[in-house]
Amino acid sequence: LPDPGVAAPTGEDVADLLPRPGAESDKYRRGVVGIAAGSDRYTGAAVLAVGGAVRAGAGMVRFVSSAEPVRLVRARWPEAVTTIVADPLGGNPVEEVGRVQAWVLGPGLGTGAEAHAVARAVLSTQVPVLVDADGLTLIARDRGLLRRDAPTLITPHAGELSRLLGVPRERIEARRLEHVRRAAAELGVTVLLKGSTTLVAEEDRPVRVNTTGTPWLATGGTGDVLAGIAGTLLAGGLSCYDAASGAAYVHGLAARLAVRGDLAGRAEAPIAALDVAQALPEAL
Ligand code: AMP
Ligand code: MG
Repeated sequence: LPDPGVAAPTGEDVADLLPRPGAESDKYRRGVVGIAAGSDRYTGAAVLAVGGAVRAGAGMVRFVSSAEPVRLVRARWPEAVTTIVADPLGGNPVEEVGRVQAWVLGPGLGTGAEAHAVARAVLSTQVPVLVDADGLTLIARDRGLLRRDAPTLITPHAGELSRLLGVPRERIEARRLEHVRRAAAELGVTVLLKGSTTLVAEEDRPVRVNTTGTPWLATGGTGDVLAGIAGTLLAGGLSCYDAASGAAYVHGLAARLAVRGDLAGRAEAPIAALDVAQALPEAL
């Protein structure tokens, strides 16, 4: 039955939302996305989040992290402008990065004192922030980080939402719609709940459902690519609600293109997260 509390944007709806460069565009006006991700222990998530942002068509990506993730991001994505923060506890770790229109915070960041300092600095800015992965662990422990004026988008899977709400994962999985709405209301943020379908909730708006994905997306790193895509859309001026649902749509479509199951009767083939980033131009 049609439910006024739920909406499922079509490809045409999403295409209408996506920013396109005009004749007078320049890289700064198209949107600069800042990415604070990765740590010496977890480097790959940073490479994937930057890849999602670059391939989604950011005007510019500014990446800030410790030395090892910066080295790998530079090697894989020469398009990104990078900043090494030697001592996040010794000053403001995002001050040297330069201006950005939106931030992505969290993939592979770690959850120690240095990661907390980076999270506090990013969430103290006046621009929209997407919080994912380790960033979600940090805000689950310190809800005060979410007290800010600018918009916030969080992108948990059921396990991450379980920690944020203090509700067992099985309860969330059994009643996803209820819990994504509850998270948006309780935390006062936009919530993108990942899984076989993706739900996007914001207070007083219908929950947007996305089903463009494929079970082949259930592999390490695809969520980090999604964070980069949504960050690019936020930096391009979309609201958290539109950036989240638009990113979910194109991420799922890119994954389907990457598995290539619809081409001339070919069987679907496994994909890796970077394949999803590489298929983004075609999906877009
Ligand atoms: P993460 O949990 O952060 O690794 O992100 C995984 C990504 O893959 C999210 O975008 C999920 O929505 C997507 N995903 C995971 N499992 C499935 C599935 N069975 N069907 C469709 N998409 C999935
Ligand atoms: Mg993840």
